[in-house]
Amino acid sequence: MLSVKNLHAAVEDKEILKGLSLEVPAGEVHAIMGPNGAGKSTLSYVLTGREGYEVTAGSATLDGEDLLALEPNERAAKGVFLSFQYPLEIPGVPALTFIRTALNAQRKARGEDEISAPEFLKLARTKAAELKIDFDMMKRALNVGFSGGEKKRMEILQMAMLSPRFLILDETDSGLDIDALRIVADGVNAMRGPDRAMLVITHYQRLLDYIKPDRVHVLSAGRIVASGGPELALELEREGYDKYARAA
Ligand code: ADP
Ligand code: MG
Ligand code: MG
Repeated sequence: MLSVKNLHAAVEDKEILKGLSLEVPAGEVHAIMGPNGAGKSTLSYVLTGREGYEVTAGSATLDGEDLLALEPNERAAKGVFLSFQYPLEIPGVPALTFIRTALNAQRKARGEDEISAPEFLKLARTKAAELKIDFDMMKRALNVGFSGGEKKRMEILQMAMLSPRFLILDETDSGLDIDALRIVADGVNAMRGPDRAMLVITHYQRLLDYIKPDRVHVLSAGRIVASGGPELALELEREGYDKYARAA
């Protein structure tokens, strides 16, 4: 699924990723942990093609296809999805409209027709029911006045409707209470499957009690410096990142 080799990337001429390599096979959930400033968000932006992030060496492929050669919308069309650390509030735009626009942009990039209104409403109602989201909430302006938990539900709903193949959660757990954390974890776990892979970026082990990763990687100073099973996350929680900061 995702294969990253010797990736170097710079922001404003400052090298942030310094030879990062990572393999995430289809069907697996991998966690990336690391200290603040290690380059975790930079990795997620480089993979999704955010402006201002310059790849200077290395490769990133999705199912063998060069991801870095694609425009951000083309990557989205291939099914790359990045969750927001801080959900957008969009006054005046109902959540339903926002999701429909995102879905149609994805379909357009795939050369598919727009989803019809009845088909979209049916999909939205089905997914909302599955995720226990009050359908009326989706008629309100996106995230405006939503609680933290409601914003997370809305994001999970958006994710479920776009049905990504490769999903990146970048510290989506920051600032969440335990109920919101469960919403995120349930939504993510429900999307696990043999054709999908996920990268869960988190500073804390806590989320990984709910989303059990197949592998855990430590990102320090722009490189993956250690990899292991779920026990590595527990070790980091106990002992901190000092050991790995030196290794970098
Ligand atoms: P993490 O997500 O692991 O906390 P980031 O990827 O956000 O780390 O940041 C990695 C490094 O890149 C930090 O030293 C940060 O200050 C720097 N950085 C991030 N964005 C920018 C930017 N737009 N301009 C300059 N430096 C940046
Ligand atoms: Mg940070
Ligand atoms: Mg970050």
